[in-house]
Amino acid sequence: MEGIASGSRQGKRVVVIGGGIAGSLAAKLLQFDADVTLIDPKEYFEITWASLRSMVEPKFAERTVINHKTYLKHGRVVTSPAINITDGDVMTEDGSVIGYDYLVIATGHTDLFPKTRQEKLSHYQAEYENIKSSGSVLIVGGGPSGVELAAEIAVDFPEKKVTLVHKGPRLLEFVGQKAADKASDWLESKKVEVILNQSVDLSSASDGNKMYRTSGGETIHADCHFLCVGKPLSSQWLNKTVLEDSLDGKGRVMVDEYLRIRGRSNVFAIGDITNIPEMKQGYIAETHANVVVKNIKVMMMSGGKKKKMSTYKPGSEMAIVSLGRKDSVAQFPFVTVVGCLPGLIKSKDLFVGKTRKSRGLNPKLVQG
Ligand SMILES: Cc1cc2nc3c(=O)[nH]c(=O)nc-3n(C[C@H](O)[C@H](O)[C@H](O)COP(=O)(O)OP(=O)(O)OC[C@H]3O[C@@H](n4cnc5c(N)ncnc54)[C@H](O)[C@@H]3O)c2cc1C
Repeated sequence: MEGIASGSRQGKRVVVIGGGIAGSLAAKLLQFDADVTLIDPKEYFEITWASLRSMVEPKFAERTVINHKTYLKHGRVVTSPAINITDGDVMTEDGSVIGYDYLVIATGHTDLFPKTRQEKLSHYQAEYENIKSSGSVLIVGGGPSGVELAAEIAVDFPEKKVTLVHKGPRLLEFVGQKAADKASDWLESKKVEVILNQSVDLSSASDGNKMYRTSGGETIHADCHFLCVGKPLSSQWLNKTVLEDSLDGKGRVMVDEYLRIRGRSNVFAIGDITNIPEMKQGYIAETHANVVVKNIKVMMMSGGKKKKMSTYKPGSEMAIVSLGRKDSVAQFPFVTVVGCLPGLIKSKDLFVGKTRKSRGLNPKLVQG
């Protein structure tokens, strides 16, 4: 295995594992205070909640798929998945061994991402061409990705027949019934056919006949399909590491009020991977990142005097699911609304400018 030395770099060594919503922010905010290494299997950070727009407008991805090096000029990037952790080192699949004084685990969800930004942009272009050349589209999965994709296609390509099949009893199971009903009504008003309580046998159309069979015995004709099911947590790899006892029964990492992994003084976890009982949302993952950045800075300066450290308490929750370019359905603590007013909050720019700004980037300019 190859060791990565600090060389002429200054300060405590902070290793952030996972360059998604939480990890990218933590690494960016710490880069001038510590010797930061970001580990991620891909070369770029992607603004996840903007990904469905990129399927109907591939140019949109130029602002939302951002090379780690663009916002992490003072840090080091290792492009390989982490596979093991000891008390002082992280090992990656490519054979690197990276020493740490502080460790932040932010591996959220796992997926088969292309490795380079260019490959990811080409992937969106291909998906767009696929949608454009299809008369009918089948979307499998009625969570936020499935609903947002159905809405994007219905708005940008109103002439296409869109069918959304969900195996659960209602769409958007992560929010309340009201929000789900409003999303469902909105989709139906745009002529999207919503089929609930059924799954799709994707292999049934493998012979090119474009007919998909559902578990309820229905047959759906579609020129192409998109599988929009939830991505599994990326925590399995922690088994057989020194943190194997830090996972709960659902594979979430157990953290204390300082977002440190329970029983560890210098190892933190942030984002969707944590076991905090709250909605799993990116804006919450970013709050975790801010708390941990403060705590690592305090520990670096004071040797970890607990009373100066920030604690994290879940706040009030909200969720906004965009419905095309103008509308959205929003669940706030006391009210759930649908239409162009909540759409003003998210649907035009999908928080892309805001997210780029928080990474120190020009909100509008494309810079890789
Ligand atoms: C369609 C959709 C719309 C959404 N809309 C919103 C919204 O409007 N607002 C909002 O707040 N939230 C929204 N969310 C939720 C939000 O995207 C997630 O809560 C957020 O991405 C969680 O961030 P994270 O950093 O914990 O994990 P992720 O963003 O999943 O990042 C995990 C990172 O870890 C990396 N990784 C995985 N395994 C390893 C490993 N072994 N070694 C190294 N790196 C690894 C991955 O490559 C990835 O870069 C939406 C989600 C979806 C799907």
